[in-house]
Amino acid sequence: MKHITGKAALLALSMISPSVCASHWGYEGDSAPEHWGELDDAYKTCIKGMNQSPINIDSTVKAHLAPLQTNYSEGPVTLSNNGHTLQAGEKAETSDSITLDGRAWTLQQFHFHAPSENTVHGKKFAMEMHLVHKNTEGGLAVVAVMFDKGAANAELQKIWGVMPGYVGQNITMKPDLNLNKLLPEDKSYWRFSGSLTTPPCSEGVTWLVLKHPLTLSSEQLEKFTHAMHHDNNRPVQSLNGRLIVE
Ligand SMILES: [Zn+2]
Repeated sequence: MKHITGKAALLALSMISPSVCASHWGYEGDSAPEHWGELDDAYKTCIKGMNQSPINIDSTVKAHLAPLQTNYSEGPVTLSNNGHTLQAGEKAETSDSITLDGRAWTLQQFHFHAPSENTVHGKKFAMEMHLVHKNTEGGLAVVAVMFDKGAANAELQKIWGVMPGYVGQNITMKPDLNLNKLLPEDKSYWRFSGSLTTPPCSEGVTWLVLKHPLTLSSEQLEKFTHAMHHDNNRPVQSLNGRLIVE
């Protein structure tokens, strides 16, 4: 397919179902995580990388991490079901950011995995939210928030109430979302170096996993897994000597 060029070809490509595309990746069968590294040359890091995510958080090193500073404001978000996850894009002129290592990292998008991808002492949580941030040099920092099954989550319901049910569907959410309400009050975290948890599994990603989970109801969890049709978590990867600091 890489020999085809031009607008017509692009149009044709866009009409091909992802399931017949050579580099299509997923969570089941031939396109499952254990095969990602073989699906496309561009995905080699998924199998060869030594700093892959997610991980099991077990032994940690006590450091004096600076408190996580989030600068999120209430605003509209656009939701899309891309077949891999439910992703919320930021408004065009976003000022949402975190301050980390003395610099600003701007929020790019956030999305969800069920069950959780990172685990804590072997425990999988019901769901995990990833807030993906980028600094001016292109470096990525992901803030992860865990969800246990429990009380329904009212802020999450603003998103869940308009959940795009089929792949490719985009919805602009009303009312505005307050991301601060999708963070625990105590924002203490574990920090480690890892990768994207989806192809191309690029490394050099700074991970901040918040220690305190939020809750969502069984009905909310079911609505998400139903829209996804399957679990969308990559299994945990080897630490290969990496340190987890807290
Ligand atoms: Zn993710």
